[in-house]
Amino acid sequence: MSHTHNLTSTKCAKCGACTVVCPVYQRTGKESYTARGRLHLFITLRKKTRSRAYGDILSKCLLCGACADVCPRGIDVPSIIRQTRCDFPRLAGPLHFKKLLTKKALASPHILDSLGTLQKNLLSGIPRESGLRKLLPFPEIAKGNEAANVLSLSDYKNTANAQISYFTGCMARYLSPTISSSTIHLTEKATGAYPAVPPGQTCCGLASYSSGDTEEAKKLARRNITAFSDSHLPILTSCASCYTHLRGYSDLLADDPDWAERAEDFAKRVCEFSSFFLSRIDQLSFSHTPSSPRIFYHDPCHLRFGLQKILIAPRRLITIASGSSPLELPHGPQCCGHGGLFSLAQPNLSQQILDPLLDEVSELSALQVVTTCSGCLMQLMRGTGKKASSIRVEHLSILLNRFLE
Ligand code: SF4
Ligand code: SF4
Repeated sequence: MSHTHNLTSTKCAKCGACTVVCPVYQRTGKESYTARGRLHLFITLRKKTRSRAYGDILSKCLLCGACADVCPRGIDVPSIIRQTRCDFPRLAGPLHFKKLLTKKALASPHILDSLGTLQKNLLSGIPRESGLRKLLPFPEIAKGNEAANVLSLSDYKNTANAQISYFTGCMARYLSPTISSSTIHLTEKATGAYPAVPPGQTCCGLASYSSGDTEEAKKLARRNITAFSDSHLPILTSCASCYTHLRGYSDLLADDPDWAERAEDFAKRVCEFSSFFLSRIDQLSFSHTPSSPRIFYHDPCHLRFGLQKILIAPRRLITIASGSSPLELPHGPQCCGHGGLFSLAQPNLSQQILDPLLDEVSELSALQVVTTCSGCLMQLMRGTGKKASSIRVEHLSILLNRFLE
């Protein structure tokens, strides 16, 4: 994850490998949205930076990393886009204000607290069977689950025997606390003790970072590093996007002499959800029925691309827990089109990327879709809700808990 780029030194071979994998190019057919096209435009438009074309290139990218993953020259176009968004935040999309609000809300626990309560109150008057609930992205509330509430971190302070600490991420803490309670329950089974859940933790900062607000991202990183500095325990997170971003704190704060070493120590402690529970599989016992539960596992882009691809661990875990291998798409994993703030800035394009994925999942006759990324979860829940699909979408921790003995 590099933070400095010199565009004139990026030697694109124009080989086109990036065009094949770009979800935006696949839907639009426009060369200007491939990594190759974006690089070309970045260089030719430099003098007229505030043009609409420039804003368009900045906005219509998921930062999925697929292009960087296949580029033979090692050109990291997502990082170039992120860095350029930093210089021109107002060009990053037509819904900039909404994105800004989302970013601010994620960085402020008290705003999220209020949003959760507001949603719950608003929905209390809507009948449980109403399709309106299905249109809402937040799962607990959409199901009319009154037990849904913000996870109380103070319940997990007294964890003298903890073997691991837990970074919840915003969705598992505020919007879908069943994810955090399921993860805590699994951790207790796998390690023999509750995890430590440091109360000072906050948003990982990915939304700020992706929108180009590096200063805010650094501020949030420092708060999290401080929150987890009471112990040297490994740090488990149930969100794939948080995982990738927390691991990147060492790069984010590399130039800060006061924080670089602490950030590096922190990043080394971060563990990915599936890999952690697979490593403790001997401590977990599952019971399952002989019939296949027809589970489809959705690969979050953050685990599919980049240096450490985590593709096998979640599949192994599902196979062991459910007794059946997860279903696979005929052409391999596909992006869901969420891309963090991309889905807010480019809702139509985001839907066009999501639709074919949902169609393929339906063709598999899947009954359940599981994943570990909060963004993918919200996108898939919204998509299946809109189609009134009966496919259940949930976090892997909830599925694993159901199969626990
Ligand atoms: S894969 Fe890399 S070198 Fe090839 S066209 Fe795309 S950006 Fe250029
Ligand atoms: S990061 Fe993804 S969406 Fe953006 S140019 Fe690369 S492949 Fe396309």
